[in-house]
Amino acid sequence: MKLNCNVIRDLLPLYADQICSGESRELVEEHLAECGNCSALLRQMHSTEIETSLKLETEDVLRHQASFFKRKSALVGAVIAGIFMIPVLVCLIVNLATGAALDWFFIVLASLITAASLIVVPLMMPENKLLWTMGTFTASLLLLLGVICIYTQGRWFFVAASSVLLGFSVCLLPVAVLTKPLKVLLGNQKSLTVMTSATLFFGLMMLSIGLYTKSSEFWKIAPAVSLPILVFVWVLFLLIRYVKISGLLKAGICTTSIGVFSFYADYFINIWIGQKISFPVFSPFVWKESTIDGNVKWLCLLCCAFVGIILIIFGIAKGGKRKG
Ligand SMILES: [Zn+2]
Repeated sequence: MKLNCNVIRDLLPLYADQICSGESRELVEEHLAECGNCSALLRQMHSTEIETSLKLETEDVLRHQASFFKRKSALVGAVIAGIFMIPVLVCLIVNLATGAALDWFFIVLASLITAASLIVVPLMMPENKLLWTMGTFTASLLLLLGVICIYTQGRWFFVAASSVLLGFSVCLLPVAVLTKPLKVLLGNQKSLTVMTSATLFFGLMMLSIGLYTKSSEFWKIAPAVSLPILVFVWVLFLLIRYVKISGLLKAGICTTSIGVFSFYADYFINIWIGQKISFPVFSPFVWKESTIDGNVKWLCLLCCAFVGIILIIFGIAKGGKRKG
């Protein structure tokens, strides 16, 4: 009986797939009639077979659905793009008919391209939708600003463009670097890329504002205000990203140093640009107009230091425990 079971179990897969010879089938069926274990094994085989085929079928259906939706959304995108063309054509005809020199037509065109970048691009792009949308939206927004600037004969294009790029590099770039192509391209340099581009666009923005305002006062104040903040932010970034200590310790150091920095920055920056300013005085029991500023600064410093030092103590205690 035992030997029989083993022989039968070798045959079972062939029997289940109905590819064994007639003699084998008879042998197996005879055995199954009196052996509960082997019958159970056969039932199990059938059920896993069904599971696998169900799974394959589900995958197939899902794949079909996905490609169907991809085709549909490309079609919807094309239709919407066509609808966008209607106002463009109407404006073009009106503009030419009224004899205007196509000036405001380009504003309409650029605005519609900006809108299309948000609506049509995500529908039509088969892959990397988010990245394409962000890229085309940024480019078309810059185009729109440029066209309006030319139309209004302004000199403000670089101020507006660099501010937009700074805003995007702070808000959109951290999301964009997580999309597949950039993730692969940048590897471990994602946060460094975001920080560097934000810094570059900040510099570009300050430069544009300086050139736009043409004021010598700006060149005195702007570096005094922005350089310490830039250096501080970079030190915090390098600490958070590259120093190998526990998260609690990092949080503690950051909180404390933000408190200390914001307490002193105002004072030293004012001295740097030659403003007379007195060192903040703490008078917690006198809340008058003359003491509020100093009191608030001191309270911020004390709160940050308090929370920061608690975090540092917990960080050190936890680190010590792990080593021990
Ligand atoms: Zn058996």
